[in-house]
Amino acid sequence: MAAPNVAVVGAGLVGLSTALCIAETCPSCSVTVLSDQFSPNTMSDVAAGILIPHTYPGTPIHVQKQWLKETFTYLFAISNSAEASEAGIHLVSGWQVFKNTPKEELPFWSDVVLGFRPMSKAELQKFPQHRFGQAFTTLKCDCPPYLLWLEKRLKATGVQMYTRKVADLWELHSEYNIVVNCAGIGAHQLVGDEKLFPVRGQVLQVHAPWVKNFIRDGDGLTYIYPGIHRVTLGGTREKESWSLSPDPGTTKDIFDRCCSLEPSLRGAQDIMVKVGLRPSRWCVRLQREVLSQGGVKLPVVHNYGHGAGGFSVHRGTAKEAARLVRECIAALQGSTSKAKL
Ligand code: FAD
Repeated sequence: MAAPNVAVVGAGLVGLSTALCIAETCPSCSVTVLSDQFSPNTMSDVAAGILIPHTYPGTPIHVQKQWLKETFTYLFAISNSAEASEAGIHLVSGWQVFKNTPKEELPFWSDVVLGFRPMSKAELQKFPQHRFGQAFTTLKCDCPPYLLWLEKRLKATGVQMYTRKVADLWELHSEYNIVVNCAGIGAHQLVGDEKLFPVRGQVLQVHAPWVKNFIRDGDGLTYIYPGIHRVTLGGTREKESWSLSPDPGTTKDIFDRCCSLEPSLRGAQDIMVKVGLRPSRWCVRLQREVLSQGGVKLPVVHNYGHGAGGFSVHRGTAKEAARLVRECIAALQGSTSKAKL
C-alpha cells in the first residue's frame, strides 16, 4: 500500500495535537487537517488551559493518570525550552482551597504535578473562608499561542490544513484511507453521538499582571489562572446549554466570586468575556470503527469528548489515537497483501 492518506477532522487542541502525534509516529503517512474553524475561533481558544485534571467517570483512573503524566512530561519539556514563551507554556504555582476538608485529601494526580503538599496554617490565612488547602505547581497552556505553535509544527512536518466543514465522515472515503474524528462538541451532529453534551463555560480574561499564583476553589467553579499576558477568571458549568452569548449577570457573578478569593482583582482592567462549550461525555471516545457502504470500507479513529479536562490529558489521548491509526494502517496493509495473493 502507498503512503496512507489520513484526514484529521477538527483543529482545536485535540485535532492539532493528534495530527502532530500521527505525523511524528507514522512518518510514511500523508496527514491533512480539515476543520470549519481554526484558532482563534475554536472552543479550545476559550479555555484557561491549566493542567488540573477533571475525572472521567467511565475511564479507569490509571488510564487517566497515564494520559496526564504523558501530557505533563511533554509540556514540561516545552516549558524548559527556548520555545516556551512562543508556545504559551509555563509553570504556575498556587493553591486549591476548600471550605471543608475534602474526602480525598490526596487526589490521584498529586504525584504528577510538582511539589504537592497541604497548605500551612499561615498560607490559609490568605483565605479566611476556607479551612483546608493544597499547594502545588502545575503547567498552563495559553491559547491561541499554543494552538498556533502546534499549527507551525504541523506545517513544518508537511501536514496540510484546509478550512472545510464535514457533513458526514463518509464523504471523505474517496480521498482518504483513514479518518480521525476530533470534532469536539461538533461530533454531536457529525456522528450523531447522543452521549455527548455541552457544558457551557463563561470566563473573563483580565489585565492584572500583579496576580502571579493560581487560586482554585475546591468545587472547581471559581478560579483565577494567571497566564503569560492575561488572567483567566472563572467560571460556570451549565450542562446542556448550547448558548454562546455571554451573560452580563454571570460576568458580574464571576468577577465578584473571584474578588472574594483575591480582593486585589477589583483593580483589574480591560475585562474580556468569552464563552465555550466543553465537549462532555461519560468517557473520552477513543475508539476504532470501520464505516462501510456497498463493500467499501473506511477506517475511523474517534478522539473526542474531553469535557472539562482536555488540556490536562491531550497529549496522552493524542498518542493513543496515533496508536489506533497505526493499527488501522496495519489492518489495511494486511488486507492489501491478502488481496494480492
Ligand atoms: P474544540 O476546541 O471545540 O475543537 C473542535 C474542532 O472541530 C474545531 O476546530 C471545530 O471547528 C471542528 N469541527 C467540529 N465539527 C466539525 C465538522 N463537522 N467539520 C469540520 N470541522 C469540525 N481543560 C483543561 O484541561 N484545563 C482548563 O483549565 C480548561 N478550562 C476550560 C475553560 C472553559 C471555559 C472551557 C469551555 C473548557 C475548558 N477546558 C479546560 C476544556 C478544554 O478546553 C476542552 O476539553 C478542549 O478544548 C476540547 O478540545 P477539542 O479540540 O476536542 O474541541
